[in-house]
Amino acid sequence: MTAPQLPSDRDLRRLVQFSSGDGRIWLAGQRMVLVHAAALSSLRSELINTIGPIATRRLLLRAGFAAGEQDAALARQIRPGRPLQEMFAVGPQLHMLEGSVQVTPELLNLDPEAGSFHGIFRWDHSWEVETHVRDFGPQAEPVCWMLLGYASGYTSAFMGRPILYKEVACEACGAASCRIEGRPVAEWPDGEQLSRDYDADSMLLKLENLASEVQSLRSTLQAADDLGPLVGHSRAFNVALDLLRKAAATNVTVLLTGETGVGKERFARGLHAMSSRKDKPFIAVNCAALPGDLIESELFGAEKGAYTGSAASRPGRFERADGGTLFLDELGELPLSAQAKLLRVLQDGAVERLGATQARKVNVRIVAATNLDLAAAVKSGRFRQDLMYRIDVYPILIPALRERPDDIEPLALHLLQRFTSLHEKTVPGFTDRALDALRHHDWPGNVRELENLVERGVILAGAGEMVDACHLFPSLPSRSEMTVNQAGRLERSADGPAATVAREALVRGISLEDLESELIQAAMQASEGNLSAAARMLGLTRPQMSYRLERIKARDVDSVG
Ligand SMILES: [Zn+2]
Repeated sequence: MTAPQLPSDRDLRRLVQFSSGDGRIWLAGQRMVLVHAAALSSLRSELINTIGPIATRRLLLRAGFAAGEQDAALARQIRPGRPLQEMFAVGPQLHMLEGSVQVTPELLNLDPEAGSFHGIFRWDHSWEVETHVRDFGPQAEPVCWMLLGYASGYTSAFMGRPILYKEVACEACGAASCRIEGRPVAEWPDGEQLSRDYDADSMLLKLENLASEVQSLRSTLQAADDLGPLVGHSRAFNVALDLLRKAAATNVTVLLTGETGVGKERFARGLHAMSSRKDKPFIAVNCAALPGDLIESELFGAEKGAYTGSAASRPGRFERADGGTLFLDELGELPLSAQAKLLRVLQDGAVERLGATQARKVNVRIVAATNLDLAAAVKSGRFRQDLMYRIDVYPILIPALRERPDDIEPLALHLLQRFTSLHEKTVPGFTDRALDALRHHDWPGNVRELENLVERGVILAGAGEMVDACHLFPSLPSRSEMTVNQAGRLERSADGPAATVAREALVRGISLEDLESELIQAAMQASEGNLSAAARMLGLTRPQMSYRLERIKARDVDSVG
């Protein structure tokens, strides 16, 4: 195909939602900002005057590239199953919808399988030409930098390989229109030089890349420990972390409290890793997971023949943790008889295997965790008071996730990295809308719930697609049905303008036929009788519009006759 037609952009226009009540505009899941072209112009010319045209050009190329990449993630979602050219047209059409430039495709040949691409597009009304010529007069070199970056970013992300554009003609240089041509980097004779424009060549960007490389290497190393490190920067989190750090320097018994799922084991491991015991074992026991008659032999070990079935002597977890840390999770669930034995071990610093006659010295730091109120458990007779005093020496309350909303995003990003590497899938990030939904969730299940949601999101998002709100919360309606209400929360967009009109029509007893006929006539009037224009207004094709008009005329004749 040489000069493809752009399909209707009605599907795209429906993705734009104004949520003026809370100061936000959405394009699907991306937050957008309506900026005055004059503001962008002044930013652009100040950049040129301060850092020079070459640096400004690169900066804007890269900014445009990032915007194009974002829009490419939408293309396959919005027009699934449509012919490839229509899917691709999302980019040029969004570029128009976003008010950047008018795009007319002149040539478009693409084959993602084979990796081949050749596209030529004509540009009119480029905002960059307008502002540049006004500020600096006619130019010898093309000036549509951000636009060009957008085309390269969009096409590269869409094709999954670097495709770069050149502006072969620019209105700023006296051409009638701007014109761009895009090809795979390798097919440009000067491809290497072109791609250098997008290279992170400044020291700053290099450092940033190194930092992210170190971070990803670090997370790979930690992948074996699927509990991950402690992530957060909120005040509540830092208070807990500070207490933990102080405890790490001593051998004090630590009691971690807080709701289920806040990550008590993660904190216990963090404490161990920060302590001088870090090269010795960290042993975890879940007191609620073992049946009452097994827990004692698990904790304290057993000699051969100590009880039915104990065919050989074996050490308990206390002995295994010697020199290191023993984490007793859900301590509140420990049976009373085991509580008595545990108390003795803590008092004597020695453990006696079941059926043994002699105690063995152990050097173990105890970290206990519970989501029960131990004082209440003592009152109801379920927990020994003397044991509580031994354990509750240095309590640390791990805050619930809803109490540290600032940590949700860094945690989610950390988990995303972990699950994308676990599932070997490329998922570039979260949409703004997904992050917004995460921030507004109540998190009854805390960090564990967040882990589950992010893993589900990674699995549900398409390859190369960002995790959206409906991937995290499948009970939420899909993107197109969603809007943001006055309170800034996501909800089904039942209150769109169409719904308002529909309710009004019902109240006033207007029939569907009358509503249709009025709507069609209003569109004809507004377009001054231009059938094609009226059809476009209603998202219809010209034949569909003409059919409906005929039907209305026939109806009117019927009712008159
Ligand atoms: Zn131009």
